[in-house]
Amino acid sequence: MKWHFSRPANPNHGITPMAPLLITVLSSWLWATTKMTVLSDQSQIFLPPLAIVALLALAVGTSVAETPSNHLVVLQYHHVSTSTPASTSITPEQFAAHMRWLADNEYTVANLPEALRKLRNGEPLTDKTVAITFDDGYKDNYSTAYPILRKHGWPFTVFVNPEPHDQKLAGWASWKELREMAKNGASIANHTTSHLFMLRRLPEETVVEWRTRLTREIVVAEERIHDETKQTHRILAYPYGESDIAIRELIADLGFIAFGQQSGAIDADSDFSDLPRFPLSGPYSAMDSFQTKMKSLPMPVFSATPDSAALDGTLTYAETRPALTLQLHDSSQLVLNCFASGQGAIPVIDQDNGRYLIRAPESLPVGRSRYNCTYASEWPGRYYWYSYAWVRRDEGDVWSHN
Ligand SMILES: [Zn+2]
Repeated sequence: MKWHFSRPANPNHGITPMAPLLITVLSSWLWATTKMTVLSDQSQIFLPPLAIVALLALAVGTSVAETPSNHLVVLQYHHVSTSTPASTSITPEQFAAHMRWLADNEYTVANLPEALRKLRNGEPLTDKTVAITFDDGYKDNYSTAYPILRKHGWPFTVFVNPEPHDQKLAGWASWKELREMAKNGASIANHTTSHLFMLRRLPEETVVEWRTRLTREIVVAEERIHDETKQTHRILAYPYGESDIAIRELIADLGFIAFGQQSGAIDADSDFSDLPRFPLSGPYSAMDSFQTKMKSLPMPVFSATPDSAALDGTLTYAETRPALTLQLHDSSQLVLNCFASGQGAIPVIDQDNGRYLIRAPESLPVGRSRYNCTYASEWPGRYYWYSYAWVRRDEGDVWSHN
């Protein structure tokens, strides 16, 4: 096994999926009976069966699968604007619609540092808890997103790299604006000092020198954020979502929590040095898929083993079609559906006992891509969700420039 983390089996897994079905049948019967009652003048005749049905429904209702809990869905935005690059932007209208959906569906919008602390400490977190994050600290976060979030009274997190704020670059929120948001529910968190490509080593740089340089990028950013806002959360968003085993070890050694940009929900057994978030910009902002993502559940993955030479998601130029083996806690008959960036659905080989081999039929592109997998949960319309991030080097095994 190349890397793994353990998690207990979902206690709700054993609960029969028959209960919701029974409720549905009984509800239909109840509805039909009520309708008949309304249509009939002899309503008395129908009241006794109605009462029995109601009692039965109540009795069965007590054995319905409990609502899943103790998981968190994190939303990731960049720009909220119509005049910025589409791939990293959501329109103000779309953003407002996302927020309205969360409010209409009674989601709890949590303070991210607090929610992560609760998950790690085994404290309860209710179902439908989400946290909202923005990367890069753009001006429109302050001018456009912040007023909408204030109206809802919701906390949010902005991952900033101090350099453009220190240089007072147009397009980025000022420290004053970040401080104002911080006073009103925003957590200002770390995105490194210079928004570097963390995987790239400088020419002639040793592993130790590389590690020292990355440490400085993180520690200096944390100090600058503290100087300006008096906040220190020790939570980092990897620039471009990129990391490898060595970087994740460094994060853990520094006592930080870090986020990538692969999708999925989080629970206590997630890898806290590479937590998933749902990117919601550009093509990922559509309302129907947004709802599915908000309802998603953390997939009970025991281990994810890539067949890459580096033993993680970083690939050489020659590693074009990496296989990923997922060992799930759930060994029941389930249909795991996987997708690769730009390739749609990809083959999944069920190797029995909850073990699945996933491999894209076509070459992955140079740069970043993903294998995303889901399977249906016992709760209608809700899916267990897991995403694995790949970064493939360019020809000559150098990191590409995007
Ligand atoms: Zn960024």
